[in-house]
This record gives sequence, C-alpha cells and structure tokens, in this order.
Amino acid sequence: MKGVSMTNINMVTVAGGGVLGSQIAYQSAFKGKKVTVYDINDEAVAAAEERVRNLRDLYKRDINATDEQFDAGLNNLSYSSDLAEAVKDADLVIEAIPEKPSIKHDFYRSLAKAAPEKTIFASNSSTYVPSTFAEDTGRPDKFLNMHFANQIWRMNTAEIMGTKQTDPKVFDLIVDYAKEIGMVPIVLKKEQPGYVLNTLLIPLLNAAAYLWGHDIADPQTVDKTWMIGTGAPMGPFAIFDVVGLRTALNITKEQQGDNPDYKPFMEKIQKMMDEGRNGKDSGQGFYTYPDPAFDRPDFLKA
Ligand code: NAD
Repeated sequence: MKGVSMTNINMVTVAGGGVLGSQIAYQSAFKGKKVTVYDINDEAVAAAEERVRNLRDLYKRDINATDEQFDAGLNNLSYSSDLAEAVKDADLVIEAIPEKPSIKHDFYRSLAKAAPEKTIFASNSSTYVPSTFAEDTGRPDKFLNMHFANQIWRMNTAEIMGTKQTDPKVFDLIVDYAKEIGMVPIVLKKEQPGYVLNTLLIPLLNAAAYLWGHDIADPQTVDKTWMIGTGAPMGPFAIFDVVGLRTALNITKEQQGDNPDYKPFMEKIQKMMDEGRNGKDSGQGFYTYPDPAFDRPDFLKA
C-alpha cells in the first residue's frame, strides 16, 4: 500500500525482528517503505521472517488486507545479520532489541559507527527514556523514542518522545513518519517514563489490584464500576487478561517489590497461573474466552 511520502524517509532498518520489531518492520513495508530487518544471526533472522509471514492472517482478518496487498508488503522487506550492510542506506533505524540496558548501550555504540551521518535513530523501548542512550548514539540531535503498541496494525498509536537534545525538525519528521505508516502519533513534550498511556494505565491497574487483593471488591464488580462510570468498553481486570497475567505479575513485582499493599494481589495472580489461568491467550483469566462475560449485554445490569 503506497502512501504519499511527506518525509522522504523511505529506507528504514528495524533492528531486532522479535515480537515488536517484526510488526514495526512489516507495517512500514505494508505502507510502502523499503525495510531491512537486522537481527543478530541467521537463526534470529529466520525466526523474524517466520514472524512476519505469520502476520498475513491477522492483516486479512483485522484490516481486510488482500493477499496481493500483503504480498506487496513482503516484497518491500529484506533481512540481514550484518549491521553495516543493514544500515548503509538507512534514513531511519528503529531499534526493537531486548529491554536490557547493557544490550542497548552496546548496540547504539556499534550503530553510531556503522550508520551514515544522516540516519535518524528511534528506540521502541517501553521503559527507558531516550536520554538513557542518547550519548551512545553519537548523534543525540537525531535520536528519540518512538514507541509502538503490540498488534501495531490494530493498536495504531506511536508515542513519540525526545530528549532536550533532539532536534525539533527531527522530532516533527518522525511524527510525520508515524502518520505515513498509519499510526496516530502521540506527542510527548518532555521525557516521561511510561509515556502517556502507561502513566495513565498503571495507577488504574494498581488500584484494581489493591481492591481485589484486599478483598474489598471482586474483579467483576471493579470492572463493572469502571465501565458504567466512564463508559469504557472493558475494566482493569479485562485489561489484565489482555496483558497476560505473567507480565502483570512481573511488572507488579518489579515496581512494588515487597510492598504489603500489593502482596495479596501477587499471591492471588500466582495461584491463578498455577491453575493454568494465564489471561486471554490461554482462554482463561479473570474471564473465559472467546465470549467473556463483560462483553455480554447483561453484564452492566443489576
Ligand atoms: P523480543 O525479545 O521479542 O525481540 C528482541 C529481538 O532482538 C530478537 O529477535 C533478538 O534476536 C534481537 N536481538 C537481541 N540482541 C540484539 C542485538 N544486539 N542486535 C539486534 N538484535 C538483537 O522483544 P520485543 O518484545 O519485541 O521487545 C523489543 C523492544 O520493544 C523492547 O525495547 C521493548 O520494550 C519494546 N516493546 C515491546 C512491546 C511488547 O509488547 N512486546 C511493546 C512495546 C515496546
């Protein structure tokens, strides 16, 4: 699918072809960009190719893409495990490698040497603000975060966050790039861990965890309250199911440690996981899928 190019960002390299990298790469290619996926070795590259191929049914199901359109996207993609080769013509490198600072520091130092001077670098990091890695890039004026959400073809936001050193022209260019590849750009004017969405969402989920953990209200009651009170299509426990209980537990552990406010919640989540109730992907979590109770018309009735 070719869009009108506003940016002249046509050659894009996505570093890391994992869960998010494969999606970012394919979505960019689907929208007409020439994309190279870079990953560490041939095995990782083959796994990335497989992930991209597996997107076909999702694009067909969720956004009515035809096979021809999907194939056109595939034709815009190439793969490499050679960093210098992968970035030699890149206008933009989007980094989606593991969320480990040591790996990212090393990567940006190598990338700084391998990429041409013109290349803009954008990190998809969920938890590190861009100033964490700005110096490693050797070009802090051309570096910022561009944060996509899982299932990029459906959850089409890109949160864009620079440092004080990011050139405003580069920032605006990336906002336009986000639009070109079908995203709704969410502009942050300052660095903020968690961007906009998680800054809103995490306190909500923590409050829900507290209410249920301390037996103040059960999950369905909490969700019903939120849905009636705000008109939202789902409540925090339905969101926990989507996120997956393992991830929810890991994030709570990391942020709360031994905080007694959240200990009962963590124990209850662990018990659910021991019973095989891991969230939406496992068919069972706080609700049973594919037909969860909160989606039924009677859920919001007395
Ligand atoms: P992942 O583990 O699925 O993929 C990471 C990929 O990076 C793998 O293919 C791995 O082989 C590759 N890799 C490892 N070391 C590398 C290196 N030195 N150079 C190049 N590639 C390397 O991880 P993910 O879930 O796709 O997350 C990647 C980034 O995206 C993280 O920063 C994460 O915070 C962010 N993110 C993830 C999600 C999500 O829902 N998974 C959502 C938004 C943002």
